[in-house]
Amino acid sequence: MMTPTSSSPQPASPDIAANLQAVRHTIRDAARNAGRKAGSVELVAVSKFQPAASVEAALQAGQRLFGENRVQEAAAKFPALRQAWPDLQLHLIGSLQTNKAVEACRIADMIESLDRPALADALEKAAQKTGRLPDLLVQVNTGCEPQKSGVLLPEADAFIDMCQQRFGDRLQGLMAIPPAHEDPAPHFTCLAELGRRHGLDTLSMGMSADYPAAIAAGATLVRVGSAIFGARPPPTP
Ligand SMILES: *Cc1c(COP(=O)(O)O)cnc(C)c1O
Repeated sequence: MMTPTSSSPQPASPDIAANLQAVRHTIRDAARNAGRKAGSVELVAVSKFQPAASVEAALQAGQRLFGENRVQEAAAKFPALRQAWPDLQLHLIGSLQTNKAVEACRIADMIESLDRPALADALEKAAQKTGRLPDLLVQVNTGCEPQKSGVLLPEADAFIDMCQQRFGDRLQGLMAIPPAHEDPAPHFTCLAELGRRHGLDTLSMGMSADYPAAIAAGATLVRVGSAIFGARPPPTP
């Protein structure tokens, strides 16, 4: 079928400042509708596969908090930006290999994807080596999808307990990516309930397609990419 919107190889350069403003408004409205304070939800602008110039445009528009999936891409893009924008904050949100733990500790302010004991070990060692431990979120696979990262729900309580003992206050909360073709709301509720049970305040949930629903369920971080930056260019291998 002909789909005119997908036939153009080079998407028109999006108006990042206007998109950011629209997303911020939506966040404010969703928070208000949920009886929450406007400042209780932070926007993580997901800049994976986007050029540094797009991050720069978002910085010019007042955005300071960014999310990246891959350690290598983040390490290539962000140190220079940080020089120019010292209050920039970087969250790593993609599944993290243990051999990237040292680099991750060097560059990230938060790692949102702690999801297995081997990674907890690697981060502990990396923190000793670098003298730096980012804030951490445990990623929970609320849909129990085999191909997806995140600790499986039946194992989540024990894993979170272990991480709290090990990392103390550095473990700030939980993150989830609901299954793509399901109503995300029950997954958001499930993550919020798990957070409550463990006294964890930070809940990273909601992406471009569903962040208002995540805010209604208690998200404190929403990770929004394409609604800000437009369609992603294909990843470089
Ligand atoms: C890419 C990505 C997002 C942003 O997705 P959009 O649909 O573009 O908003 C959020 N979270 C994670 C973990 C991602 O990988």
